[in-house]
Amino acid sequence: MVYDVIIAGSGPAGLTAAVYCGRSLLKTLVIAGSVPGGQLMLTTEVENFPGFEEPILGPDLIQRMRKQGERFGAEFIQDDAISVDFKSHPFKVNTAGAIYEAHAVIIATGASAKWLGLDSETRLRGRGVSSCATCDGFFFRGKDTVTVGGGDVALEDTMFLTKFVNHATIIHRRDALRASKILQDRAFKNSKISFVWDSVVQEVLGQQKVEGVRVRNLKTGEQDVLKCDGMFVAIGHQPNTAVFQGQIELDQKGYIVTSKGTSASVEGVFAAGDVRDFHYRQAITAAGDGCRAAMDAEDYIEEKGLRVH
Ligand code: NAP
Repeated sequence: MVYDVIIAGSGPAGLTAAVYCGRSLLKTLVIAGSVPGGQLMLTTEVENFPGFEEPILGPDLIQRMRKQGERFGAEFIQDDAISVDFKSHPFKVNTAGAIYEAHAVIIATGASAKWLGLDSETRLRGRGVSSCATCDGFFFRGKDTVTVGGGDVALEDTMFLTKFVNHATIIHRRDALRASKILQDRAFKNSKISFVWDSVVQEVLGQQKVEGVRVRNLKTGEQDVLKCDGMFVAIGHQPNTAVFQGQIELDQKGYIVTSKGTSASVEGVFAAGDVRDFHYRQAITAAGDGCRAAMDAEDYIEEKGLRVH
């Protein structure tokens, strides 16, 4: 069976695309991933998604979006796309056990925050360890936080945190920041921010919640404990595009290159959300992008007269 549209990914971008495609009566399959829902599944309360005056849990928001997509007839399978063939029509998206075909594909596989890889970091994720200051900063009012990283995101996130926190410390593995000069100047001027240079976090301390971090200076080997209530990891994101390598154009960091709205380099393939956007990375911007991709896919299908039914 050939679908009108296959959507790969089931975060806000993929699920919004599913709502729009389903509502346009396109025969739609969502390959939701073996761990569906994307980064919102790792978030607790979402307070900045319009329409919810009270906080909503990330997984609940995802569940609602999925039900909305299902109401309009989108089909879901909980599996990973492991390879694709965009070189012949209809396009093929393969999972471990099946081959699915469609006239258009929307890629919404998102990006994953890079983590330090410490056991203590994994254990305390959602209990003071976070990769999203915009999502979680509000919960650290009057508290002390550390941010790991020296790039634009580490600095922007930390400056955002200073609206809430008592004090924020940036721990960077070198003695010079990677971030742009303008952000550096702002951060150095911010009295709530201090820096620990040439250092890495060895361990996140605390049983039920973050109580501090053990830091090692890479030049001297000295270790120190820094008390804090939260650790924000801002060492970059990795777009989930390995499967699409060689099939569509990716930039140097692996993000999907798009033009004319959400079109990828192969006609009929579209990209939405964090898989093409390293800058905004919000649930609402991803959802908006999913809507655009669905509309672009529908236009393409109508123009080419490819609609299945
Ligand atoms: P990034 O620029 O790649 O910076 C990552 C930072 O994390 C670097 O300082 C790096 O250290 C550090 N790091 C990486 N792995 C680490 C590890 N295992 N342990 C400790 N530290 C580690 O990533 P980003 O800050 O997420 O930015 C992503 C892209 O978005 C960049 O191109 C950035 O310019 C762009 N961006 C731009 C803006 C803006 O223009 N306003 C805002 C946000 C993002 P080293 O420096 O030693 O490599």
